[in-house]
Amino acid sequence: MNALGIIKRPQLGGDVDTHCGKCGEIREHVIAALNVKGGIERVQCRTCHSNHLYRERQTKTASSRVASRTNKKDSHHSDEGTGPSRTYSMQERFAVGDRLEHPKFGLGVVVEVRAGKIDVKFGREVKTLIHAG
Ligand SMILES: [Zn+2]
Repeated sequence: MNALGIIKRPQLGGDVDTHCGKCGEIREHVIAALNVKGGIERVQCRTCHSNHLYRERQTKTASSRVASRTNKKDSHHSDEGTGPSRTYSMQERFAVGDRLEHPKFGLGVVVEVRAGKIDVKFGREVKTLIHAG
């Protein structure tokens, strides 16, 4: 199924422009999960932080925009980004790239999401935490 001319494989934590049901328009999303074929399974809206399934049909128009945007804005991936952080709770659902505030470990960045668990980088240390995903 490579009829769409996919050039490179999507990566967890990467950006993709797709339609957000909550915002009601095309928004920049973070890739939160990949499917077994290496395609995008779930994305999280950078604007409203809603986590939803990725709908493939937007890729035709979005792919070129993604490329130029990625170069400009996210050329360097910073751990100390400027995005808002959320208070950590195991009832919350987190995605790669999310910043969170943990009562014990402080400010961290989600570097990996697995079933029910997230790896969060606090400074130089990576801790595995439970989340609702
Ligand atoms: Zn949204």
